[in-house]
Amino acid sequence: MTAARLDQTIHDIKGVGPARARLLARLGVRTVRDALWYCPRAYKDRRTITPIGECHEGDEATAIGAITSVRRKRFTWRRSVVTVRLDDGTGELSLAWFNQPYLREQFKRGDRLVVAGALRRNSKDELQIVQPEWELLGDDEEDAIHLRRIVPVYPLTEGLPQKVLRRILFTLVRDEADALPDVLPPALLERHALPRFADAVRETHFPKNFEALAAARRRLVFEEFFVLQLGVAIRRRTVRGLAKPRPPRRADGLARRFLDRLPFEFTAAQKRVAAEIARDLEQPYPMNRLLEGDVGSGKTVLAIHAMLRACDAGLQAAIMAPTEVLARQHAARIAAYLDGLPVRTALLVGGLPTATRRPIVEGMASGEIDLTVGTHALFQQRVAFGNLGLVVIDEQHKFGVMQRLRLLNKAAHPDVLAMSATPIPRTLSITLYGDMDVSVLDEMPPGRRPIETRWLRNSQLQKAFALVRRELDAGRQAYVVYPVIEENPDLELKAAKAMHATLSNDVLRAYRVGLLYGPMPAEEKHAVMQRFARGELNVLVSTTVVEVGLDVPNATVMLVENAGRFGLAQLHQLRGRVGRGTHPSCCLLVDTPRTDAGRERLRIIESTSDGFQLADEDLRMRGCGEFFGTRQSGLPGLRIGDPLSDVELMRLARDEARKIVDGEVEITDEVRSRLRAELRRRFSGRLSLVST
Ligand code: ADP
Ligand code: MG
Repeated sequence: MTAARLDQTIHDIKGVGPARARLLARLGVRTVRDALWYCPRAYKDRRTITPIGECHEGDEATAIGAITSVRRKRFTWRRSVVTVRLDDGTGELSLAWFNQPYLREQFKRGDRLVVAGALRRNSKDELQIVQPEWELLGDDEEDAIHLRRIVPVYPLTEGLPQKVLRRILFTLVRDEADALPDVLPPALLERHALPRFADAVRETHFPKNFEALAAARRRLVFEEFFVLQLGVAIRRRTVRGLAKPRPPRRADGLARRFLDRLPFEFTAAQKRVAAEIARDLEQPYPMNRLLEGDVGSGKTVLAIHAMLRACDAGLQAAIMAPTEVLARQHAARIAAYLDGLPVRTALLVGGLPTATRRPIVEGMASGEIDLTVGTHALFQQRVAFGNLGLVVIDEQHKFGVMQRLRLLNKAAHPDVLAMSATPIPRTLSITLYGDMDVSVLDEMPPGRRPIETRWLRNSQLQKAFALVRRELDAGRQAYVVYPVIEENPDLELKAAKAMHATLSNDVLRAYRVGLLYGPMPAEEKHAVMQRFARGELNVLVSTTVVEVGLDVPNATVMLVENAGRFGLAQLHQLRGRVGRGTHPSCCLLVDTPRTDAGRERLRIIESTSDGFQLADEDLRMRGCGEFFGTRQSGLPGLRIGDPLSDVELMRLARDEARKIVDGEVEITDEVRSRLRAELRRRFSGRLSLVST
């Protein structure tokens, strides 16, 4: 089959008209190729059909027969039973379905039915299957598709019956599979004993046995992973082929002076990472590094250090934060660190008045401003840097892959240092960040007191607030976090605004209590944070806006209500807001969750403070789709493979893809052009991965 044939719309296939094509489109199936990749969600083993006369009580069996009677009995409004008698000439079988009265309408005398399930004897001593799996059969001609084989079960959409879809795919696979070309190089298939694509497609839809099915699935998953990793590998090589600006070094040694002024020594981990960054900065191609480290592990100081090195080289540096709150906080901290050093800094966020914004944008363009702190406003259309050398992306996971790649593609090809306090499980980092070099800060600065985490039930709320008051009376400060801002009658969750009022008049009456939430005007937000940072407020009632970045060493209690509603990563981040000073801190998670998942999350977070372990647990609990779904810009092109359960295959795919991209393995021009077409088809416009 030619590539053109694969791209043909499904509409043109035998047995598919415009109406079915519309239904198939709902399943994401628009072309012949889509259909061939539309994998069954399950299989039924109908290889052996047992004559009813040979069926025995206690066996699991599949039988076929004609319906001789259909009856429905209603016990009450809700409770009913539909019974069907099935005859295949060798014997009779009774079938019973409880509380599905509508099934009565499905069956007619004379219809042929295939059923499967456990055989038992009913009260009348008849052989019976209760709630059997069933499927109505058409004419004998179709039996070849639906019987005496391992039968695929596809995910469906309303209006498209299983048997219709199965027949469409059966025809398609029968007529087309043999001619399907392989995208993967033949030598690669041989090396890893992977079946040909044609065989993999056939065995995935209509497997001859379960071994062949497993091999076929492995092959299809491998292909998905391989194409993804090829994109990643090309990206990596492309970055290495870019030339970054490297004007002569300036002599003032800002980076050195910064280090000399720090009131502490770098930890061993910080020193190691600083050296890794320094090496990257020396390369002729742009740095593309991910710095992972738990909250408070000292990433920001490393970032400032790296930015000053860029400034020392006569280049501009910028740090981009996911929220305005965080950007302002960085700006304030950086100003404090750099006080008295000859570095011109600026803060650029969205919505600045023109009079404030214009000189900043002009200073960035002329190169007058050395170091800019901002949100994504930094990289909008109308903002340009005169001589940008380094971009730091703080809380990388809040941005997604696209933005990072867009930065690398900026005209000047700046160095990019992405930081994340949400450790990415290693299984995923080879997928999402496979083109990056990774540094890990696995050591906390000395003197940190471990944070005591306690899960309290709702009935212990007063006790939680007593602990809060005890800290406040000792001169410390506290955060109290709620899942939502406003009350919503559908959600039964406590809301920050209402609770701020309640607490101020009740348990925290004696203290100064501030309120902070996302959609507040930025100036107001900043003012509240300043007051909390200066100690003018004892308590900050908030939503998860405090999740990232706030750094108030005097805050020692984090109280989270409805805690079971938060994700593990979020709870870990919230906890990271305390324990930043010399006083012992605690994190109080209050909830009596109704779901198992909620309880399990609280148990896990209470028992570990290791960010990586939490990330793995998080991933295990939520699965890949969701991990990527909301927080990442998505992992493109994966329909059947799951990087989580197929880790080894992903690693293999990465290694093989790198070999090809780095020229260690030869491929023919034909294979090369097929791979290229495949890459373009799957990823173009989604990851800007394909630049060659
Ligand atoms: P992160 O960005 O990883 O959350 P920061 O760089 O903000 O961490 O550091 C957290 C706190 O720890 C800051 O107050 C910082 O000044 C301090 N810190 C960083 N590195 C060290 C170190 N080596 N020794 C002592 N304190 C440090
Ligand atoms: Mg930070």
